Amino acid sequence: MEQVALCACDDYEQSKVDLAVSKAVDLLGGINKFIKEGQTVVIKANMLMKCGPDKCATTHPSVVEAIGKLVKQAGASKVIIADSAGGPFTEGYMNGIYKASGLKGTADKNGFEMNDNFNSFEVSLPNGKVAKRFLICDCLEKADVIINVSKLKTHSFTGFTNAVKNMFGAIPGLTKVEMHGQFKTLDVFGDFLYDIQEYFKDKLVLNLTDAIMAMEGPGPSNGTPRKIGAILAGVNGSAVDVVGLKLMNIDPKSMPTINTAIQRKFIDENLDIKVLGDNIEDLIVQDFKTVMPNNFKPFANYVPQWLQGTLHRLTTRRPAVNRHKCKGCKKCFEHCPVKAITMVPTKKGGVPKAKFDYKKCIRCFCCQELCPFGLVKVKTGIVYKVLHIGSNKKKSN
Ligand code: SF4
Ligand code: SF4
Repeated sequence: MEQVALCACDDYEQSKVDLAVSKAVDLLGGINKFIKEGQTVVIKANMLMKCGPDKCATTHPSVVEAIGKLVKQAGASKVIIADSAGGPFTEGYMNGIYKASGLKGTADKNGFEMNDNFNSFEVSLPNGKVAKRFLICDCLEKADVIINVSKLKTHSFTGFTNAVKNMFGAIPGLTKVEMHGQFKTLDVFGDFLYDIQEYFKDKLVLNLTDAIMAMEGPGPSNGTPRKIGAILAGVNGSAVDVVGLKLMNIDPKSMPTINTAIQRKFIDENLDIKVLGDNIEDLIVQDFKTVMPNNFKPFANYVPQWLQGTLHRLTTRRPAVNRHKCKGCKKCFEHCPVKAITMVPTKKGGVPKAKFDYKKCIRCFCCQELCPFGLVKVKTGIVYKVLHIGSNKKKSN
């Protein structure tokens, strides 16, 4: 049976986080079970975008500090903090995120390194289900061991993001956008996430989740911080995801990526997981504001094929921007994987502003992640709201 350690942690005070992280790792057998002397260890954090830790879109530096210190105590020769964010995988772009996220300060204070290798590497995965060859960040390829330190959040495309989705950041920069264009539906995208898991299965030794402050509502970047007060740790990323979902009071089987994990035998179908440490019932946030994953097709069995596209558009969330506020920077336009955005002048002239074509839009929400001004919001129509009320919550007994 899979095991996941759960340790309560009230806030980000460093001594409390150190204690919770070391307790969680000890419950799994201790840090020396995962790290050997002399190894180069990459801590794969979530560095989605340039913002401070208070926004709760990125892994909090105190959690990275806590696990980094343990890794050093175990004799690692190098501790490198790395990720590839939503934008370009370049020194200039990533340095801004390193600084804003607080991770650069943590690295300097503790003798860790921030990744400065922005090369990518094409890997081969002959048994990959949807991807046999794909690019990954070279720094992950060169690591002896990876520790995945994710942030627990809602996600407007996948429903939630935690351990497994965090490894999508192994794909360099804007190649991620191309991958969204290639793997348009959530089912296929989920398979790609598990191809990535397959590729890293020997190197990725531990998954740790920062769920002290999670994100609820329209995540992963425009949601609201919400306290859960927990640290999670586990060897199996899918098991860590299941426990994270339970903390958000979401039925794990309502999430397509968990069903993909079951189909591909990354986790057993009964989701049998032994939770070690603190009592999960004490930490579940009953009124956590969730979002449905973007594969909701309530009419699939009842209406003809030609009508399903229209109904799907009406019953799913969509990206939207207030055209008065749009700065016309073109970031969303340049990176939309299906060219669903055009830059159109307003009636008064001036800088052309972003306009969405919802017939083309595949709802990947890359534009939401990439807008440097946080202006792309997630819009829900009345049909969506009526159909989704409470639909991914656990059924009461
Ligand atoms: S408009 Fe935004 S959500 Fe739609 S496909 Fe383009 S990037 Fe993705
Ligand atoms: S990225 Fe944001 S500001 Fe830039 S064009 Fe798109 S919506 Fe406008």
